[in-house]
Amino acid sequence: MKLSSMDRRSFFLRAGALAGVAGGLESLQAAQISEKEAKNIIWMVSDGMSPSVLPLAEQFSLRARGKGTIWQALIDRPDIVRGTMDMSSLDSIVTDSSSASSCWGSGARIFNAWVNMLPDGTKLTPIADIARGRKRLVGLVTTATVTHATPAGFAAVSRRRDDEHLIAEQYLDKVDVILGGGRKFFDSRRPDKTDWRPKFQSKGYEVVESRGAMLAAKSARLLGLFSDGHVPYTLDQRNSQKLQQEVPTLAEMTIAALGRLSKNKNGFLLQVEGARVDHAAHANDAAGLIWDQLAFDDAIEAVLKFAEKEPNTLVVITSDHGNSNPGLRGYGKEYRDTNMAFERLLKVKASFSDIASRIGTRSEYSMHANPEVVPKPMPPANRVVEALRAYFGISPGKDEIDFIRRVVGGQKGLMLNRDLDKLDGVLGTVVGNHTGVCWMATSHTSDYVLVTALGPGARRFEGFIRNTEVFPALAALMGSNFRNPSMPAEKAQQFRQVAMLGRRDRPDWA
Ligand SMILES: [Zn+2]
Repeated sequence: MKLSSMDRRSFFLRAGALAGVAGGLESLQAAQISEKEAKNIIWMVSDGMSPSVLPLAEQFSLRARGKGTIWQALIDRPDIVRGTMDMSSLDSIVTDSSSASSCWGSGARIFNAWVNMLPDGTKLTPIADIARGRKRLVGLVTTATVTHATPAGFAAVSRRRDDEHLIAEQYLDKVDVILGGGRKFFDSRRPDKTDWRPKFQSKGYEVVESRGAMLAAKSARLLGLFSDGHVPYTLDQRNSQKLQQEVPTLAEMTIAALGRLSKNKNGFLLQVEGARVDHAAHANDAAGLIWDQLAFDDAIEAVLKFAEKEPNTLVVITSDHGNSNPGLRGYGKEYRDTNMAFERLLKVKASFSDIASRIGTRSEYSMHANPEVVPKPMPPANRVVEALRAYFGISPGKDEIDFIRRVVGGQKGLMLNRDLDKLDGVLGTVVGNHTGVCWMATSHTSDYVLVTALGPGARRFEGFIRNTEVFPALAALMGSNFRNPSMPAEKAQQFRQVAMLGRRDRPDWA
């Protein structure tokens, strides 16, 4: 059934998702003023968001918050551009985050785990340099370390994504607003033992390390580092007053960035990343994932409120790859227990990373299907039962308790799906038995990502696009026709062998 525009408006009022946002965002329609240039560009990434996460977040949000998500409501608007994107990297159909963001940031597909560099060592010019050349300010906001793969792909060049201390140095004087985690890459814990925060201060950055300091900051340039590593999961933040006071939400960081960047008369380029959606997906942690997706949705709301006031703003909302592809399965006879099972997720009070420490181990996302097996003592059964009851609200069966104890004890061969044969896979499967949310892997997937765009130039992101099309589109919208070199996949094969020799085998890919 085709809805008239009046029906659509009343649909939104009923659905409620957009109704409370700046008068229902009706005036966003006025944003379609130009297809040639966009004064401001806001690129939003829910990292590692499989397309199936959007309906999961919608269904959960309706139950948890009594309203749907902004992203889902946007998709139904007739004036919004919808598409999907192929995110393949140069050496794999399944991309990692640094290759994904680098392709957006340079126009070239590169090897996984590299940042804006071709296999032969050719350095590419990242999109942040194009923006600066066009007198725009640049901002990076994330819930990962600020030097992590996705922010780095817009502003840095590195042979290894893990060299985060070197990526940190490259932001100085190039990125005006930097907000997220990763303090340890800026202070004296760096390999050079040098505290780089004074260097940033000498270039006009105010350095803030708490929510309160960020809200009180006055300077135009801002470096906000709210944790040593990644910013805590939203789920753990919701259950800790201390974290709520110390750490800003993604939406609060986004508003702080917009307030500064929008002062520039020539506009800005801002990337906003909901990074921990990816980490929770690697961990098969459904509640952790959905709460971070909702925090990302709150940031979308903040961005749309800004775009309504500043219609010359292109907003693109997308992801960089699928991850572990969660889905809600039909539960019970004729699926009648599905809703009840899913509602058990509402009772979860801690992320897997928090719960793992409570049963005496660690939850670590990893792209290695078979990490080294180290036998450890099994935790007592009552500790497992109490943790699952207290923090997940579920009563595990004897077999489930046994599997958790054995996987914590370092045993292998517990799951026939080899990618799930580890703590995260076992815990995710056990919790899924009670909540209905199941997982296919603990790894990135090849799914085409969702793209939702509005504002000047949004039409360039319509339909099915390739990740290589993003850079030329963003450059053109900033008035630049710059192009980076690229390398065909066949030629890249020659370099692959050599590249693998130099690669450090790190377990913390995401
Ligand atoms: Zn990613």
